[in-house]
Amino acid sequence: MAIDLRSDTVTAPSQGMRQAIASATVGDDVYGDDPTVNSLEERVAALFGKEAGLFCPTGSLANQLLIRQLVNPGEELLTEERAHIVRAELGAGAVFSGITTRTWHSDRGLLNADVPLALAHENAGPYLVSTAAIAVENTHNFGGGTVQPINEIAKLSKEARARGIAMHLDGARIWNAHIATGTPLHEFGNHFDTISVCLSKGLGAPVGSIALGSKELIAKARIWRKRYGAGMRQVGLLAAAGHYALDNNIERLAEDHTRAKKIARALAAHDASLINPDTVDTNIVGLDLSQCGITAAEFAKRAGDSGVLISALGKTYARLVTHLDIDDAQCDQAISALIKSLR
Ligand SMILES: *Cc1c(COP(=O)(O)O)cnc(C)c1O
Repeated sequence: MAIDLRSDTVTAPSQGMRQAIASATVGDDVYGDDPTVNSLEERVAALFGKEAGLFCPTGSLANQLLIRQLVNPGEELLTEERAHIVRAELGAGAVFSGITTRTWHSDRGLLNADVPLALAHENAGPYLVSTAAIAVENTHNFGGGTVQPINEIAKLSKEARARGIAMHLDGARIWNAHIATGTPLHEFGNHFDTISVCLSKGLGAPVGSIALGSKELIAKARIWRKRYGAGMRQVGLLAAAGHYALDNNIERLAEDHTRAKKIARALAAHDASLINPDTVDTNIVGLDLSQCGITAAEFAKRAGDSGVLISALGKTYARLVTHLDIDDAQCDQAISALIKSLR
């Protein structure tokens, strides 16, 4: 079997998770009758100190349901230029909600609060676009799993909110940031009006994200979820996987981080231009192949031929992601195969 490092979404539900799914108590969630969904929404909201949660099939939907509550049609959302919301959600904010965006650039996606604060233009009057919200991605996926400094988040949140600008957190991998830094989840909750979190990335559930916010905001998001066609019925089967993931798979993310660091160190020892291992904060290893004379596509092909699947995300940018279906032996095997593929 190939060692799959393309993403942390490729995990298969474990036996324990399958048992939790099989024994879940369920009801019709459109009627609000699914106890397993209700308890999961309440549980995740409480973890982040938010009033309410909404179970969503995908993180993209959770992001989109939330940002449309913060940004009116024709207003703008600011975010980093490689954020999932602007790069990987296929223009959903524009298509469904009339949201315009402006982006800033930062090395590795790392947040410097002064940059969006300088870009923001709240209440811009009748001639210019008004900034309604700022979105922060933590950890930053296409930045290479970058953890955002909590002091920059705090500063951005304080100053943006003082100017009447709302704060959204794309926290698909906030669990990784929490484990890497020890920052309590509710502290992230303090700094953001709305938060999306994924259960189907590092936590290993087959499906599921939770949208978080105030009671009033989530009640509106619930209407829009149904309007978009994502009102689900006995979906406690999937919520049970989410509960299992929260019970069992958060603390173990530290192992994924250790393995990602090990891969980065080994590849840097082979060729220092590939990556600075110090920049590997969590479970994502982003490789710069521009000095190696090989494209990311060619590298991915060679690695695949030797049994390791990786993502070619740019012409010379390749991404490797560790996750709960990769153990130490597979990690070592992957390192040898990757180095062989670079020769
Ligand atoms: C994966 C991901 C999402 C959500 O993706 P879905 O495939 O829609 O569940 C959102 N934000 C980030 C940063 C992600 O990596």
